[in-house]
Amino acid sequence: MSLSLKISNIWAVGRNYADHAKELNNPVPESKEDPLIFLKAGSSVVANEGTFSLPEFSSDIHHECEIAFRFDARLKLSQMTLALDLTAREVQSKLKEKQHPWTLAKSFKNSCPLGPLVDVPKTLNLQQIAFTFKINGEVRQSGHSGDMIHSVAKLREYVLERFPVVEGDLLLTGTPKGVGLIRSGDLLEAEISGLVKARWRVS
Ligand code: ZN
Repeated sequence: MSLSLKISNIWAVGRNYADHAKELNNPVPESKEDPLIFLKAGSSVVANEGTFSLPEFSSDIHHECEIAFRFDARLKLSQMTLALDLTAREVQSKLKEKQHPWTLAKSFKNSCPLGPLVDVPKTLNLQQIAFTFKINGEVRQSGHSGDMIHSVAKLREYVLERFPVVEGDLLLTGTPKGVGLIRSGDLLEAEISGLVKARWRVS
């Protein structure tokens, strides 16, 4: 990993877009409920332009493209990028059935490919961020932050109130519909037009 800053924790949210909750047959949360927060290991990050391998314990690794923010020294979200919250879907389904934590499905080695961090533009409306994710040039996910159930500001406030967030931690804000399998050899690209361009290769 060539990021200069060490990432301790990755705070991620599940089911933050109604269309994605539905595609996995999960109940659609209401905005007045608490967000569903889970952790990914900071050491699971793959830097932008990185090539990474898939875990051997699963042949069902799904992409979840998500807008990600980095907490700065004042715990403000001053930088952003796109990230992949890679998920061992079959494993996650079994863990859900058993009502076990999702760690094995969410926090394996290389489970968080990360795009280049950029400063959040002062003029950016956090409710107006559109992004796309492609595999081998084909669009698989198109998202818009205005569709989030819990806004970026609310997610930040929520995790700061409850968890030991430290400088450099990431906040992943959930994925829209269109999640699916990634395979060995795939070229993965994610983009926020004019702001973030990320790419990774699956070895
Ligand atoms: Zn996710």
